[in-house]
Amino acid sequence: MSEDDVVTVAHGSGAGRTRDFLEERVVPRFGGGSEDLPVGLAALDDGAVHDLGDQSLVVTTDSHVVSPLSFPGGDIGRLAVAGTVNDLAVMGATDPLALTCSLIVEAGTSTDLLDSILDSMERTCEEAGVAITTGDTKVMGSGEVDGVVINTTGVGVVPPGEHVSDGGLSPGDKIVLSGPVGDHGITLLAEREGFDIDGDLESDVAPVADLVAAAMDAGTVTAMKDPTRGGFATAINEMVRKADVGVTLEEPTIPVREAVASTGELLGIDPFDVANEGKVVFGVAADDADAVVDALNEHPMGSEAAVVGEVTDENRGRVVLDTGFGERFLSEPGGEQLPRIC
Ligand code: MG
Repeated sequence: MSEDDVVTVAHGSGAGRTRDFLEERVVPRFGGGSEDLPVGLAALDDGAVHDLGDQSLVVTTDSHVVSPLSFPGGDIGRLAVAGTVNDLAVMGATDPLALTCSLIVEAGTSTDLLDSILDSMERTCEEAGVAITTGDTKVMGSGEVDGVVINTTGVGVVPPGEHVSDGGLSPGDKIVLSGPVGDHGITLLAEREGFDIDGDLESDVAPVADLVAAAMDAGTVTAMKDPTRGGFATAINEMVRKADVGVTLEEPTIPVREAVASTGELLGIDPFDVANEGKVVFGVAADDADAVVDALNEHPMGSEAAVVGEVTDENRGRVVLDTGFGERFLSEPGGEQLPRIC
């Protein structure tokens, strides 16, 4: 068998190979749209939007396979709740209605470990103001699954037409980032490699629905995405491709924590390329950008939010990174480096 005949780790990268997989195999089968489906599978957005008449239902789902199960700043339980709450939030559903939880557990997993994961899910649900209202539990034999896998599905509602897609950028919009990038991915990789020398790395995993609501209250948000797997670089490239616009980013304005930058350098990994689990990339109408950044800065999770770039008519489908010394294209990370990051 050739590489094309089997699924590889690269197919799960979240970037190009994942998109190829979805566009060749999944979208042709399930991507058909209809009038009452303003955002369907073919949009490859953070969730779907179903028009119910007087309300729109937002639905999203995610399977969490992170390794290790616990890491500085969080664990798989917190990730499973925050990840799905955040996908709802960046579709505009900032007041989540309910979550489902499907647990797949390896026989031999200690009940103490399972309790600590469930405790963490419970705390994160409280923080996000959401409840798990249905679920499923399966146990697989020892070695048949690695520890614990958690799938969560989330539902929320928004007034008709008030959802926000990740494809809504227009020339002139500002790009606003809610905080420093790379924390989750670099922390996970450092943990795996035993590289967190000073112990000052921590995942940013957290529900961001409140933060998103604050931004939406302060001004017109034209597009949103949570830069998870594939990182900020993948998220912003997806946004320009879908809207057929360009973006120029001012690199010195993009916040990256010192420990994340230096550990990234040691590991040979760019913080722009790795997952965030508590950050949002916003497109904002130019006139509202200052008001949105002010509102984010007042929120405890948005103190470092900033305008980091602008949407352009030129360079359609491309992201230009102005480093302060010159310009280059910012591309998506290639395939294989980061399995099981979220
Ligand atoms: Mg997402």
